[in-house]
Amino acid sequence: MNEHEHEVDLDQPLCTDSVRRRAARLGVGTPRRHRCIARPAPSTERERSRRPGVRSTAVTTPPVFRFSPNAYELGLFEERSGRCDACDSDRELRYTASFYAVDKPDYLCPWCVADGTAARRFKGSFNDWLGIDGVPVDPDEAVTVDRECASEVANRTPGYPSWQQERWRSHCGFPCAFLGYVDSTDITEYLVEPDFAADVDGGIGFPGEVLRDYLSRDGDLTGYLFRCVVCGAHRLHADAS
Ligand SMILES: [Zn+2]
Ligand SMILES: [Zn+2]
Repeated sequence: MNEHEHEVDLDQPLCTDSVRRRAARLGVGTPRRHRCIARPAPSTERERSRRPGVRSTAVTTPPVFRFSPNAYELGLFEERSGRCDACDSDRELRYTASFYAVDKPDYLCPWCVADGTAARRFKGSFNDWLGIDGVPVDPDEAVTVDRECASEVANRTPGYPSWQQERWRSHCGFPCAFLGYVDSTDITEYLVEPDFAADVDGGIGFPGEVLRDYLSRDGDLTGYLFRCVVCGAHRLHADAS
């Protein structure tokens, strides 16, 4: 396995040159050593299982989603036996959140979400490309978020249940990681961050006093917490029933 180390302050390392350059330019705080696998992930599970030296645990341990690191804890997959419509394998974890495709599969396993098999096979996406901050509705305008990572959010990252169409927050030119649901009490610890405070105080279309008083994790006005994969700053999205 071709591994290397580099220094970026990311909880979920993005092992790309552009991130390293950006992190360096931002003067990201105290860097921490990460171990990254330089070799690109195999595109299908069949390729993965054909790789020499890969034990069966590599296939049975579900993939981690760097843009949705809490996907399993959040219930975006349910424990249910079935055959994945994308890879035809018998699985125990079924994807439960949004998938936009003409022909909707009944059962998608996390591996087929993560490696793009599901998106390719069903010509679908898990998150709306235009819902990602930095992707303009007008195709003539410049995309201001890393395209490769935005594509990973759209095509290889679980969506999350929300009242309206999902929004995916970005920061530092990259899509953020979706962490989970937050209420009025939860958000107080992030209000010291200027960009998060700006989101709360009118930046996402709701009056600040409403979000500070009535935001809930699962009620009529729901908060969605994101964290920048480069600098660690938090961002908020909220929507209502
Ligand atoms: Zn599958
Ligand atoms: Zn950032």
